[in-house]
Amino acid sequence: MTDIRNVLIIGSGPAGLTAAIYTARANLDPLVLEGEPSNTSDQPGGQLMLTTEVENFPGFPEGVMGPDLMQRFREQAVRFGAEVRLEKASRIDVSQRPFRVWVGDPAAEEPTYRANSLIISTGARSLMLGIDKELELIGHGVSTCATCDGFFFRGHEIAVVGGGDSAVEEATFLTRFADKVHMIHRRDELRASKIMQDRALSNPKIEMHWNSKVVEIHGDTKVSGVVLEDTVDGGRSELAVTGLFVAIGHRPNTDLVAGQLDLDENGYLLTGRDGMASATNVDGVFACGDVQDHTYRQAITAAGSGCAAALDAERWLEANVHS
Ligand code: NAP
Repeated sequence: MTDIRNVLIIGSGPAGLTAAIYTARANLDPLVLEGEPSNTSDQPGGQLMLTTEVENFPGFPEGVMGPDLMQRFREQAVRFGAEVRLEKASRIDVSQRPFRVWVGDPAAEEPTYRANSLIISTGARSLMLGIDKELELIGHGVSTCATCDGFFFRGHEIAVVGGGDSAVEEATFLTRFADKVHMIHRRDELRASKIMQDRALSNPKIEMHWNSKVVEIHGDTKVSGVVLEDTVDGGRSELAVTGLFVAIGHRPNTDLVAGQLDLDENGYLLTGRDGMASATNVDGVFACGDVQDHTYRQAITAAGSGCAAALDAERWLEANVHS
């Protein structure tokens, strides 16, 4: 039989590692399953591993590289005694306590770990177009976050893909920096709310490209242009842009918990039960970061929610397990 952990944290982005720092400093000996390396945002360190410079994380007036920032989070958690393992949870069972977590074969009879409390911080991923060079050039012209990267495109000509509220909001925001923003949408009408549409359509810096999709990205080390294909007649054209913002939606990483924890209509984990910001519908299971936040999606808000989850877990353990 495996030992019973006080706190097991699944996911190692800003939320999970902040929860680890706080629970480690509360002497709860947290174990963090940080995931496995991959070239998507579903990897140790999360979405910041796919960014270059982060200029809006407080405390770093000169800016910091995304992977360096995550390395610092990790070191801080380890310094206070968190155990961080390069392992990916393949299954959880929250129907009984202690909760059970598997790594590797999800059909194995014995779980790999058992824990009195769980903190789910598996993050979310930006949906991507799935075209060549898109992932390689993230942080080098390709971006999924206008708030994070808009500043780097001051005076540039850039493109935003998508037709929903995110795309319209990002395109409008980016006109503060870019000289021109090309909005590329695969249909002839936007999905975005009317008020946001009006704002974008009346902005002289935004040029709409209806019935268009990006099929190629030009540039070896940074984006130098994109090829558009007309979705009606198949005709191709080129746009000389230095930035490509992909704003076609996000998906929370909730496969592990679906069917066991309550999700909202968009698949995000529901939290906030009993006045605890991070409490899910199962007593003793907490969630933080982008897996439960489709509104703010910032490293600093994820870190803040990781702190809240740690404090919620600590108090819950005190009242229910250690008393
Ligand atoms: P969304 O509403 O799902 O819109 C995604 C957009 O991307 C759609 O226009 C879709 O095209 C397009 N798209 C999807 N896959 C594509 C692909 N492979 N290639 C090209 N285009 C693709 O996502 P969202 O804009 O991120 O919004 C998510 C939710 O958050 C919505 O409920 C939205 O209202 C909300 N939100 C609100 C605000 C706000 O109120 N300030 C801001 C942002 C988001 P089609 O239209 O053809 O399907």
